[in-house]
Amino acid sequence: MMPKQDRTAWLKGGDARCAVPPRKPLGKPWHLVLLGAPGVGKGTQAELLSERLACCHLSTGDIFRAAKCFDEKDQTPAIQSALGCMKRGDLVPDTTVLQLVGERPRCLRCSGGFLLDGFPRTVAQAGALEELLKREEVGLTAVFNYELPLEKIVARISGRRVCSKCKAVFHVETKRSQVEGICDQCGGALVQREDDRPEAVEVRMKAYLENTRPLIEFYQKRGLLITVDAEGSPEEIYKRTRLLALGR
Ligand code: AMP
Repeated sequence: MMPKQDRTAWLKGGDARCAVPPRKPLGKPWHLVLLGAPGVGKGTQAELLSERLACCHLSTGDIFRAAKCFDEKDQTPAIQSALGCMKRGDLVPDTTVLQLVGERPRCLRCSGGFLLDGFPRTVAQAGALEELLKREEVGLTAVFNYELPLEKIVARISGRRVCSKCKAVFHVETKRSQVEGICDQCGGALVQREDDRPEAVEVRMKAYLENTRPLIEFYQKRGLLITVDAEGSPEEIYKRTRLLALGR
């Protein structure tokens, strides 16, 4: 497996730079957006796609999770309030999210390409992304929209466990670690994400239906949407995605 790209510039923002240059894609760099309800398996597909297509995995949720580890004195009031939203499962306000993404234009024009996961999440964010990309003279290659019935989504979320150190994702039934509660990759403790608790999941699902689902129509109108059935193993879903994206 290729080592994960260095995402320092994305996670830290400001003047931070990635120490390792991006991998060179085989053809044109990919500029992708992933859509889908919480728990649909987007994060796993993001890992596979970014590794195999050599594009950088840019997740706004990861920016907030990284900020959680900063000293409190390094957390701006906007970040502290964002972490509160995240804990409840609520969306972080557009202004905060757009400020963070707007401070990272370098990642959008990176020669390795990108895969946006968890952004945009509202029509306002999608409009702002369109403007940002226009300014950077970058066009989206495709928007993958992963679809799965609700009961399967609930099963995936309730069993999901994440490594507290390297963030690798496991599942208590479908992707068990070799030793229960311990990450296969780095030996870190596996935990349930705070926002995977049932009360937070309900809030996240409502936020998805109200705010993010309208993006399907937004990208359909622009001829960018590719809807992918998210049933099956990660590998099956990946292959389905690649087949649907042939020629892009
Ligand atoms: P994720 O890892 O993408 O599921 O994001 C985790 C949480 O971070 C979400 O439930 C939101 O609270 C917050 N978040 C991440 N990205 C965004 C975004 N683009 N807009 C609003 N809130 C976001």
